Amino acid sequence: MNVYDSARMADVLAASGYEVVDTAEDADLVIINTCHIREKAAEKVYSELGRLRQMARDGGGDRRPPLLAVAGCVAQAEGAEMLARAPFLNVVVGPQAYHRLPELVARAERSCESVLDVDFPPDSKFDAFPDPHTGTEGAGAFLTVQEGCDRFCSFCVVPYTRGAEYSRPVTDIVREARRYALSGVREITLLGQNVNAYHGISEDGAEWRLARLIRAVAAIDGIERVRYTTSYPADHDAALVAAHGEVPELMPYLHLPVQSGSDRVLQAMNRRHRADDYRRLVDRLRAARPDLALSSDFIVGFPGETDAEFRETLRLVEDVQFAQAYSFKYSPRPGTPAAEMPQLLESVKAERLATLQELLNRQQREFNAAFVGSILPVLIDGGGRKTGQMVGRSPYMQAVHVHAPRHLKGSIIDVQIVGSGANSLAGELVGPTPNGEGFRE
Ligand code: SAH
Repeated sequence: MNVYDSARMADVLAASGYEVVDTAEDADLVIINTCHIREKAAEKVYSELGRLRQMARDGGGDRRPPLLAVAGCVAQAEGAEMLARAPFLNVVVGPQAYHRLPELVARAERSCESVLDVDFPPDSKFDAFPDPHTGTEGAGAFLTVQEGCDRFCSFCVVPYTRGAEYSRPVTDIVREARRYALSGVREITLLGQNVNAYHGISEDGAEWRLARLIRAVAAIDGIERVRYTTSYPADHDAALVAAHGEVPELMPYLHLPVQSGSDRVLQAMNRRHRADDYRRLVDRLRAARPDLALSSDFIVGFPGETDAEFRETLRLVEDVQFAQAYSFKYSPRPGTPAAEMPQLLESVKAERLATLQELLNRQQREFNAAFVGSILPVLIDGGGRKTGQMVGRSPYMQAVHVHAPRHLKGSIIDVQIVGSGANSLAGELVGPTPNGEGFRE
């Protein structure tokens, strides 16, 4: 979502004459877009700020040093505290105030005072954003449809930093998706912190859930692939499960965070699902779409997690078999209930994380290896590391490296898989390919 947000910030600032440059050294304004989900992500901000400040000081002779801004959830959570720690900052702006950036930056340009805006304004930023321009160059694009979360998992800062759940109206989303399609985007990933809780209003006043929205986006000319992320298991309704079997554009890959395999821990996390609810949901999804690849998020070392409870997480991983996963040591977040609970030792967390990751990595390697010898439709997205090489995505989200002409960017081509690794596949073109007309270089 921060990638999408950064693009909207660039778009909104284009009206003030700003354009995107490749390096901070060339910039008149540097915005660091931040994440507060774990302490490690939040701490990175300050080291990056130190580096940028040094750069501004050393900066080229008579050139004015760049304005420095921090956006995102660290800005939202730390606001005034951040200005106390980094008083040289010119702008601190929270995620719900991005549409006010031109005004905030103009104020910062005029004065030497720092400008702070961490409001949750009553007007929606989405209504104020211009039509998307930045981020529409690739074969795939993100599209935020939902923001915020009402679930209040005891470990999570999202309800505090992004605020209450908000679903964008259907018409706005479909219009934005059409614009993407016109600029050559073939794959759209619908985004939300709790995306499957989407309940947007359509033109006739009806409330649409995510499954219906997916069907509408999939029906747009030029959109060949649809994905969505991130889902909360208890919000997965029957229509969404069915969509996986019925909408060919909906890709057979789903990121569905479970967090733990222990019912006691899940309850302490204030999750509304038990481990078996998750297993059953996976069964229903696989019944609808047998080749569905699953990805998940795990937290190890949640306060009070015992060895036996951790082993239940391993058991769930063995039962479900994941194609890919993210796993983290529990990180206490200020203001969340779990941060007040007695904490486990760092060494215990580290050991459990290593054990879990070994298992997840093995499953990921096995998942990838099973494709060697088969043919996959790959959406070519850009140049690879080696000359002549292109990189694309399989339906199952694997990165696929293949020798192919550049004009194939933006098209879906059949690739014979000849090799596999932990994080990617290697393949060769098969059969006739599009002649390049109408494809962007
Ligand atoms: N909406 C998703 C959560 C997305 S946040 C859900 O309902 O599950 C991305 C991931 O970061 C989470 O799934 C979780 O695994 C991890 N995470 C969030 N807070 C964390 C914390 N305090 N410590 C460690 N990992 C955390």
